[in-house]
Amino acid sequence: MSGRILVVDDIEANVRLLEARLMAEYFQVLTAYNGRDALEICANGECDVVLLDVMMPEMDGFEVCRRLKADPRTMHLPVVMVTALDQVEDRVQGLNAGADDFLTKPVNDLALVTRVKSLVRLKMLTDELRLRATTGQEISVQELMAQSLRNAESEKAKILVVDDKPSSYERIVKYLSAENRITLVSDPREALLKAADNDFDAAIISLSLADMDALRLCAQLKSLEKTRMLPLLIVSEIDQEQKVIQALDMGINDYVRRPVDRNEILARVRTQVRRKRFNLLLRDSVQQTIEMAVTDSLTGLNNRRYLDSHLPGMIEKAQERNSPLSLIICDIDHFKQVNDNHGHDVGDEVIAEFARRIKKNVRNIDLACRFGGEEFVVAMPETDIKTARIVAERIRNEISMHPFVVDQGGKQLAVTVSLGVASLEAPDDTPESLLKRADNGLYQAKRGGRNMVVYEAA
Ligand code: GH3
Ligand code: MG
Ligand code: MG
Repeated sequence: MSGRILVVDDIEANVRLLEARLMAEYFQVLTAYNGRDALEICANGECDVVLLDVMMPEMDGFEVCRRLKADPRTMHLPVVMVTALDQVEDRVQGLNAGADDFLTKPVNDLALVTRVKSLVRLKMLTDELRLRATTGQEISVQELMAQSLRNAESEKAKILVVDDKPSSYERIVKYLSAENRITLVSDPREALLKAADNDFDAAIISLSLADMDALRLCAQLKSLEKTRMLPLLIVSEIDQEQKVIQALDMGINDYVRRPVDRNEILARVRTQVRRKRFNLLLRDSVQQTIEMAVTDSLTGLNNRRYLDSHLPGMIEKAQERNSPLSLIICDIDHFKQVNDNHGHDVGDEVIAEFARRIKKNVRNIDLACRFGGEEFVVAMPETDIKTARIVAERIRNEISMHPFVVDQGGKQLAVTVSLGVASLEAPDDTPESLLKRADNGLYQAKRGGRNMVVYEAA
């Protein structure tokens, strides 16, 4: 994985050391020797993760972190505070300043690479989500994304803790309870069921379970469809480094070492929870983008783009099976007058109600879409011309027989529609030829006085 890591330390030897280790893992490394330079690099969007020394002259690491988290341009940038081993207080201060994780000097290689990787992944997701939130086609989508992003960051997380030693889990549960809802399971066999049945945001698993190899449980969780996306953190003893490496290779997301530090475990769980929630958000937003691209927002019907991509397939299928297919194009009569006399908003109401009535009069397998303005198309598989004309007449009646109630019940409008109908006939019929014939029918219906159905033969 590549990511751009900024190393900030006032002592050159420290910078060089971290730089060399990160470059060995193919990260791009930027360096700064004071807070001011660091802030500038970050504000220019040149890095993905910041490793920040605490003790620096002029501006210390806490102040740099506070400023990064207060600036909208950099508040999403993950910050790792690099603290001295004996300065436990630094972690509390780092958390208060908004730091995302901690490393202690001398920095352990495995810890360094694990943390940086995990935060680079988080940053990639945040970038993608923020991009979507600012480039959404419609304001409503932007707001929705911003709202979900806030929720994802503020809602209490549901955490599964799998640990069979009271001395260990009591501590973990105590530390995490302030920010999370904890489910404790001391029988590892139960853990799998619990995880599949609940929607946890992360699981914390002891690496030293008495009855079961913890990595086996992790592997099962990673392979089950329902729990595949669940972030896994393991809790290791200090002498289990080999096992931790094995776990990370398997795709376990992060680890904490005993004795568990309160701030560390809080920070790491927070990172994993965010990552999971952002992933889900991103999936939803992709889904939403796809739906938006093929749905007309005023009527909820499919749009022309959808028709263009689906009609060819529908026609091909009908031709292959030698089964009928018909098409109706309809256009509201004198619609311009509705806008002129009652305003554009009332016009919109009429279009939306018109779409509802069409939808009500066709089958689910029929493809009804808004072709443009006040023009609609219905493509009907397995429908011959005789039936198509009946459907078209039914729509015409449905529109003309019942006035449209608009303006919150304040007005009733008489609306009529003209319709053109065409059916698959010639073996070389195409979407274009079919649409063209239906459109000719529509044109004749308009010329013939409107509020009528005209079938155009090939
Ligand atoms: P005809 O009977 O010949 O179809 O006459 P018409 O007035 O319905 O047709 P014309 O094409 O002259 O005008 C259609 C009008 O529909 C013009 C356009 O401003 C309006 N229109 C198109 N889309 C919308 C929309 O989404 N909302 C509203 N309110 N009006 C729309
Ligand atoms: Mg019209
Ligand atoms: Mg028109």
